[in-house]
Amino acid sequence: MNIENALNKGKKILKKGDIKSLNLDTEILLSKVIGKDRKFIILNQDRALKKLYFNNFIRLIKERSNGKPIAYLLERKSFWNYEFEIKEGTLIPRPDTELLIEEVLKFTKNKNKLKVLDIGAGSGCIILSILEEKKDFHGIGIDISKKSIDLSKRNAIHLNLNNRVKFIKSNVDNFNIGKYDLIISNPPYIKRSNLKYLNKDVANFEPRLALDGGIDGLSGFRKVIGKSSELIKINGKLFLEIGFDQKKEIKKMLKSKGFYINKVLKDYAGKDRCIVSTKKN
Ligand code: GLN
Repeated sequence: MNIENALNKGKKILKKGDIKSLNLDTEILLSKVIGKDRKFIILNQDRALKKLYFNNFIRLIKERSNGKPIAYLLERKSFWNYEFEIKEGTLIPRPDTELLIEEVLKFTKNKNKLKVLDIGAGSGCIILSILEEKKDFHGIGIDISKKSIDLSKRNAIHLNLNNRVKFIKSNVDNFNIGKYDLIISNPPYIKRSNLKYLNKDVANFEPRLALDGGIDGLSGFRKVIGKSSELIKINGKLFLEIGFDQKKEIKKMLKSKGFYINKVLKDYAGKDRCIVSTKKN
C-alpha cells in the first residue's frame, strides 16, 4: 500500500458518500494521519504507507463519508489570522464571521484599553481574534455550553490570551457582570422551520443550540439586544452577525433599545450579514 493507493481508496469511499471535495478531503485527512503537510502527500505518492496509518486514514474517511465536517475530524479550523481548536458540540467558525472582526478593527482603530463582551462565544474565535489584534483590550466571553467554555479557555491558553480574557458559563439572561465598550455576538439565528434545509454536514453534526433562532429566527437577538442595552456603556458599540433576511426586524429592535444604527454590511455573497450600532440612551 502506498500513498497513491490510499488516496484512491479514500476517494472511492467519499464518492459513495456523495462528498464533493474528494481530492482535497482525502489529502487533508491523510496529511493529518501521517503528520505531514499536503505538499508532502502530493509529491510522495509512491511512498509506502504503514498499515496503522492506512487504518486510521480509512477510519477518518468513513466518518467524512457520513458527512462529519473536516474541522471536527481535524479538530482545527483557521479563522482570521489564527488556528483554533474545534470540537463537536461547538459551531465551526465561518469565514463570513470574519466580517465582524474587520468592522470591530475599523471602529476601534484609535481606541485603547476597551472592555469587550462576546455573547455566545462558542470556540472563542471572535473575541480571541480581536484581543490578538488589540493588545490592550480585555474582556469576557459567555456561553451556555460547558463544552464551548472548556474549548474557548483552551484556545485562550494556546493564543496566550488567558491573562486578558475570561470565559464564563452562563446564559445571557442571568449574566450581569460589568459594563462594556464593545459587545459582539453571533447568536443562533436560523428559523426553526428552516433548520431542516441546512446542508446535511451542518444539520447532522453542528450544535442546534448555536443555530436554532426559535420560531421566527429572532429570539437570540431579542435576548442579546435586551441584555446588551443593560451592559453596554453609553456610546458603546454593538456588533451583531445577522441572517440575510433579518435586517429590518433587528434594526427595529435596536432602535427600540436606544441604539443608533451605524451600518449594515454585506458578506462576500452580497447578503446582509453584520450590523453595527451605538448605544445612545
Ligand atoms: N451562518 C451560520 C450557518 O450558515 C449560522 C450561524 C448562526 O446561526 N449564528 O449555518
